[in-house]
Amino acid sequence: MQDKLFIDGKWVDAQSGEKFDVVDPSNREVFHRIARGGAADIDAAVTAARKAFDYGPWPRMGGAERAAILRRMGDEIEARKDELARLEVRDNGKPLPEAIWDIEDTAGCFHFYADLAEKLDQNPEQDIPLSMDGFSSKAVKEPVGVAGAVIPWNFPMLMGAWKVAPALAAGCSVVLKPSEVTSMTALEFGIVAQKAGLPDGALNIVTGFGPDAGQRLAEHPGVDKLAFTGSVPTGRRIMQTAAQDIKAITLELGGKSPLVVFEDVKIDEAVEWVLFGIFWNKGEVCSATSRVLVAEAIYPKFMERLVEEARKIRIGHGLEEGVLLGPLVNQSQQDKVLAAIERGKTEDAKMVCGGGIPKGLEHGCYVEPTIFADVSPDCWIWKEEIFGPVVCVRSFKTEEEAIRLANDSRFGLAAAVMSNDLERADRVARAFRAGIIWVNCSQPTFVEAPWGGYKQSGIGRELGEWGLNNYLETKQITSYDRSKPWGWYLKE
Ligand code: NAD
Repeated sequence: MQDKLFIDGKWVDAQSGEKFDVVDPSNREVFHRIARGGAADIDAAVTAARKAFDYGPWPRMGGAERAAILRRMGDEIEARKDELARLEVRDNGKPLPEAIWDIEDTAGCFHFYADLAEKLDQNPEQDIPLSMDGFSSKAVKEPVGVAGAVIPWNFPMLMGAWKVAPALAAGCSVVLKPSEVTSMTALEFGIVAQKAGLPDGALNIVTGFGPDAGQRLAEHPGVDKLAFTGSVPTGRRIMQTAAQDIKAITLELGGKSPLVVFEDVKIDEAVEWVLFGIFWNKGEVCSATSRVLVAEAIYPKFMERLVEEARKIRIGHGLEEGVLLGPLVNQSQQDKVLAAIERGKTEDAKMVCGGGIPKGLEHGCYVEPTIFADVSPDCWIWKEEIFGPVVCVRSFKTEEEAIRLANDSRFGLAAAVMSNDLERADRVARAFRAGIIWVNCSQPTFVEAPWGGYKQSGIGRELGEWGLNNYLETKQITSYDRSKPWGWYLKE
């Protein structure tokens, strides 16, 4: 297991010599110690990235050459899938099948952006018709420069891939700052990059804490673009910091995503998507189905089945066969989620399932699948992101009421609707004020499709061609046909 920082193609200690603990959330035991990078290490990483961008081969290569290296990175991640997934389970707690899924998606993300890097060669510039004779113009895409990437702990390697792969595909150099809570698989990008032949300095990885390493990356004048995924308060701070030197930013923030279930769907089908939507990845998902609106006609039966099935969910260590809910990422997250549940118990809502630490699992950061029914839209638990296995459910009478309640949120990351009437489903999908809409499902995410939020859920879109465009500047090059003198000042 790696324990150093990856700067300019070399593995180095933090300049302070400090390290910090890596903790397994299934038993709260320290299993490793890694370098605690600070502002000085970020400065060194940005200097390396700047040199790689301003003078190095990476941005000057053709897209096809970059694609070959990105593909090798994807192949290497794929080849080490099982090992990397097990490392993710140890660091984050998620069940192994979900970790395998993450690593497959991580490899897929590198392969996808390798294809897009190649396409940049095929269509590098666009001719622009002009209304004035004698001039011709074209738009040219160029890498934006040095990209800083700050990521959260819920999908540690995958969130890194969503930023590193498109940034490298575009020809940018990158400084990645993983979450201090889960840094292990992010460091593996360095090993993979070295093996794939990525030029020194094109990717740099600094493990460390948000207020020092993260903050320095956000404020560093050598960084041209900052891509952030995390909470709204940190996103707000990053936006303020980046405003100092008008840094380009993308923000992928939190959510409180609704799922509207109409009376014409099979109840078990809806129950399945709600369970998946809120208990997958322990509910530590930005787009988690945390608010459920169910048509009044099926509400009692739906609640009965939801609670019945939630009680059957197997909780335990992520490597145990059949486990569907692992420990939350750390003690602090467990404390936050349990406090949110306690608050919910005092509100206008009825706790009908879970609500505590599962018996026999007190040694880890576990929380039971928890369901609140009849939740009033005024409740704190209905409005705020809990980021754990806690779902709030209430009924609705009409389509208009469902849409109004769904949209009544400061967040707008995702929303979902289930109905057999596809016209109605489409109408509701279009009425939602959110960036990602699922019809008759909830959560499946595809590298080809745009990802990002409305309102306080963020700014910009990742994934697909949108993800690549985040790391490209558009330059206008306009030429004049000198056969005719311009003659504004110098008359003949
Ligand atoms: P967080 O905001 O606490 O931390 C995210 C990252 O920011 C970490 O790397 C942290 O070290 C860094 N950071 C903290 N303070 C900083 C500062 N002052 N300057 C620069 N960097 C700083 O979030 P988290 O707890 O790691 O993640 C959970 C949050 O992320 C949830 O709100 C969740 O919804 C959101 N999230 C959103 C998406 C999305 O795609 N929209 C995806 C995953 C997670």
